[in-house]
Amino acid sequence: MPHILIVEDEAAIADTLIYALQSDGFTTTWLTLGLAAVEHQRAMPADLIILDVGLPDITGFETCKQLRRFSEVPVMFLSARSEEIDRVVGLEIGADDYVVKPFSPREVTARVRAILKRLLPRTEAASASELFGIDRERVQITYRGQLLSLTRHEFRLMQSLLEQPERVFSREQLLDALGTAADAGYERSIDSHIKSLRAKLRLIAPDAEPIQTHRGLGYSYSPSHS
Ligand code: CA
Repeated sequence: MPHILIVEDEAAIADTLIYALQSDGFTTTWLTLGLAAVEHQRAMPADLIILDVGLPDITGFETCKQLRRFSEVPVMFLSARSEEIDRVVGLEIGADDYVVKPFSPREVTARVRAILKRLLPRTEAASASELFGIDRERVQITYRGQLLSLTRHEFRLMQSLLEQPERVFSREQLLDALGTAADAGYERSIDSHIKSLRAKLRLIAPDAEPIQTHRGLGYSYSPSHS
């Protein structure tokens, strides 16, 4: 679960945020001082920092500047209306977003989720892998919601590749997956199975290349090219 560092000197506001974030599945740490937040981030990096602009020691802006010397952690500013935060200033300092008080805790958690989603490319790779669905009992694979019409060998090949994204399989390893004795003739048949698999995938997504060729090594399934 993503860990959120809250830097806010007003306990009532911090409590509201902690409650909202924890109800949403985040873990939280609460600090009241800017310098303490910088030190904390150095020792135990959080995934995102919610940073009040008006803090008792140094300002949230100064805190953010110090953080930026060693960290790219997403920062969301909290600002009181009276502080009249200038959006441009906040963004120039390297903040990712800001919310003006009084705010609704739901708005804050929604923004936190949006920032994390935007900044974590791994999240996208995970959803790309869901483009494929394997039904082992029926020996069927779907791609982008459409059923692929596969031979038994093509199914086994695709299944092996899908089960270990980014792993490069040699032709021999893929032959093992087919349960066929490895000999010279069969190695070439792997290439022809892959060729026909690709043709079937291309009918559904002409511009995608889920099966990657690694010259001299073999093949892999790449979620980011799916
Ligand atoms: Ca404050």
